[in-house]
Formats: sequence, C-alpha cells, structure tokens
Amino acid sequence: MSGLQAPAPSISRGHAMLNDPRSHGLWEKTAPAAPVTTTLAGAAKADVVIVGGGYTGLSTALHLAEAGTSVILLEAKEIGFGGAGRNVGLVNAGMWVMPDDLPVELGPVYGERLLDLLGNGPRTVMDLIDRHGIECELERSGTLHCAVGSAGRKEIEARAEQWQRRGAPVDLLDEAETEHKIGTRTYQGSLLDRRAGTLQPLAYARGLAHAAQKAGAVLHTASPVETYDKTAEGWRVSTAEGTVDAQWIVVASDAYSHGPFAAVREEQVHLPYFNFATVPLSDNLRKSILTERQGCWDTKEVLSSFRIDKAGRMVFGSVGALRGTGLGIHRAWAQRALKAIFPQIGDIAFESEWYGQIGMTTNALPRFHKFAPGVIGFSGYNGRGISPGTVFGKTIASHILGQMTEEELPLPLTDPHAPAFRTLKEAWYEAGAQVAHLAGARF
Ligand SMILES: Cc1cc2nc3c(=O)[nH]c(=O)nc-3n(C[C@H](O)[C@H](O)[C@H](O)COP(=O)(O)OP(=O)(O)OC[C@H]3O[C@@H](n4cnc5c(N)ncnc54)[C@H](O)[C@@H]3O)c2cc1C
Repeated sequence: MSGLQAPAPSISRGHAMLNDPRSHGLWEKTAPAAPVTTTLAGAAKADVVIVGGGYTGLSTALHLAEAGTSVILLEAKEIGFGGAGRNVGLVNAGMWVMPDDLPVELGPVYGERLLDLLGNGPRTVMDLIDRHGIECELERSGTLHCAVGSAGRKEIEARAEQWQRRGAPVDLLDEAETEHKIGTRTYQGSLLDRRAGTLQPLAYARGLAHAAQKAGAVLHTASPVETYDKTAEGWRVSTAEGTVDAQWIVVASDAYSHGPFAAVREEQVHLPYFNFATVPLSDNLRKSILTERQGCWDTKEVLSSFRIDKAGRMVFGSVGALRGTGLGIHRAWAQRALKAIFPQIGDIAFESEWYGQIGMTTNALPRFHKFAPGVIGFSGYNGRGISPGTVFGKTIASHILGQMTEEELPLPLTDPHAPAFRTLKEAWYEAGAQVAHLAGARF
C-alpha cells in the first residue's frame, strides 16, 4: 500500500556521514557501500512508518517487509548515523545489569522474559546475518569480560555463577587462561561468554538496510521527521519536503533522537565513548594477541574495550569525547594504555579515531514507550544495542503483525522521564573521563 510520489528526489549513496572523520572512523572506511536511498519528497503512504535508520528501525523494517507489510523508514542523516555506525561491535548477550537483578528490577515475568530474549540476542543477530548473507566481519568466538583487581574478579565470578545457573554457556577463566587468550598479563581472570561475538557495526547496519530494501521496505535518508499528527485514518509524519501517512509510527531514534521524539533522548544521560584503531598488527604479533578474536572489555568504572578487526587492526576504546581538550588527552592516554596492556606491540600508529554518545537510562535497562495508540518504540540500550536493537525490532514487527500482545512484550510500558541534572551529569562524564585519562598513567 505504499505509493510514493517523489519528484526528482536527491540520491544518497551513504559515503558522507557529514564529512566528519571522527564520527564513524574505521567503520566508514571499511564498510561495504550503503544502499542507494532518496530523500522523502511529496506525499507517501504505508502501513508503518519508522523513524530512525539504526538497528531497531532497520530490524523492524526488515521483519515487517518480509511479512508483506508496507514500510517506509525515515532516517534524518544516513543509515547507521547514530550509535549503529559508531559502536565497538561487541555482540553481547544480556545487559550490564546482573542476571539475578533483572527479575528484582522488572518483576519475575518481565525479568525472566528479558533475560531469555537478550541472552539469546546474539543468536538472533547471527541467524539474521546468515539468512541474508550480510558481510559484516562477524566473529562467533565470544567475548571476554576482563577482571581488574580482586573487585573485578568478584564481579565476574558472580556474573558467571548467575548465568551458569541459568544454563548459559559462560566460563570463568583464570589469569593464565586469560593471558593465553588475550596475550596480556593485565587481568585477574575473565568471563568467556560463548554466545557473543563481534562484527563491523556499520557494515551490519548497511547489510540490514540492503536486506530490508530487498524485502520491499522503502528507505529515505536525509529525511528528518519534524512533526507527527493524528489523521482520520491513522498518523501523518512530516519532514521538510514530504509526508507519510500510516497506521503505525515506530520510534527508533534512541540516543540520537531529535524532533518530535526528543523525549527519548532527554530521558537518557549521554556517556561519550571513543575508539582508536591502529594500523594492522604484524603477523607475528597476531600469533600472540587475541588469536581467537574475542571482543574484550574490563571491569573498571571508566572502562576500556579492545578487539581486532578483520584486517588485524586493534580497536581500542574508552569513555570520553574526542573534541576540545579531550582529543589530545584521550589520544595520549590510549597510546600509553595500549602499550601498558600489550607491551609487545610497542609504538604503533593510530589509523582512525572516532566517538559517539551512549544513551544511559537511570536503571541501566531499556524502555518501551507508547507515545499514543499506534506510536511505539524501544530505546535506551545503555551501550548494548546490537543484539537488543535487532531483537526489539523483530519484537515490534511481531506486535504490529498481531502475533504478540502488548502484555507479551519483553518490557513493561513506561513514560519517558528526564532524569534530574541530566546536562550536569553529561558534563561531568565528559570532564571526568578527561581527568581519569590525564591522571591514569597506567591505563
Ligand atoms: C561509541 C559507542 C560504542 C558502543 N558500543 C557498543 C557495543 O560494542 N555493542 C553494542 O551492542 N552496543 C554498543 N553501543 C550501543 C549501540 O550502538 C546502540 O545501542 C544502538 O546503535 C541503538 O540502535 P538504534 O537503532 O536504537 O539507534 P541508533 O543506531 O542510534 O539509530 C537512531 C537513528 O535515528 C535517527 N534519528 C534521530 N532523530 C530522527 C528524526 N527526527 N527523524 C529521522 N531520524 C532520526 C538518527 O540519525 C540515527 O541514525 C555503542 C554506542 C556507542 C555510541
């Protein structure tokens, strides 16, 4: 039922990302081309209109289009412009919150439902990648949550015990096993989660976009939604140059939300996170460093993460924004820290640097919102959006298709709530990361 009238639309091939080398860095350099898209122009109709072209929006579009529903997705900038094109690429199982705490926080029904769904999240992502032949450097070798000090060791022991009790394939590794897997003596052990993996995040987003288009979804980029209004038959969303009439609006704009759904962004505290990618490591170094290519992060409060991409580049990240004084401080810290963890690498050049904003909610759990009947969305993944975005997109599609009632969704309905002192907290995170990295001579 989609009938787009598009007079001379401008065509985007998704190479620009606003010409900012620090927005999408390595991922933009190494991702396959984005699908060809146009801006919305004129009046269009669909069963469902989706706001946002990240994992949540694209997964919703793909699953709906596969079921024969007409879908138009509107993305303000480019496919993967938000977190989807900037992240580390860790395909995690579950959330930050300890497994046993979820049923306490959400009640047993939602808690266990969410644990089950997100515990199996990486499998949903990997099945989708296989089914659509998405080229996104997928590695299925798991992730390693690395313990720093005795407090870190205790944390991963508790996490391992709680997942193992639920039958999840996670193993606690001691110092020597961790050293063998990673190639560093830095950690007091690690938690190997065999369900998880890594991928090239922008390539995955673009692959989902190609698959959604192939299934019949219409994707428009450079089409920021400015308003939404009730009509006699459903809803109308408007951009500067066009409108879409639909029965449903799916709000999939998460931490990068602006326009009429800015409340989604305002209920989150932005935590900046950067990454540096080295030139490819030599063959010799790759014989001792992350030979199985697990994705890693540590238990520190100002955490660090690292992984290897397909070409053997080390992607090394931590909390902070690469702007103003932060740029020099974080770059110098990353050079020191990388050397402290992997002395065998020595001095190595960084080839790319980029950062983005992670949206944190007050209880570190995602949200399900209904802005009005037929206007719904999931958001707030707290730095863990690859699996949840994909899974919740599929869930929204099932709900719209009438296969799942609102009560059967994985999260209870809540209203967006701006946390107190949001902007102060954001300034504190950005400045605090600089202080930590300025002082952190070790790592
Ligand atoms: C630096 C960083 C590292 C991260 N690391 C990881 C990781 O390793 N593993 C992991 O699982 N997760 C990670 N995350 C989190 C993950 O990237 C996000 O949770 C995920 O991208 C959310 O997907 P989404 O589709 O909901 O939103 P997004 O990917 O943010 O997409 C939302 C889109 O909506 C668009 N939009 C906003 N407003 C409008 C509007 N008015 N009209 C039209 N479009 C609009 C934006 O332009 C954007 O493209 C990280 C995030 C960051 C920033």
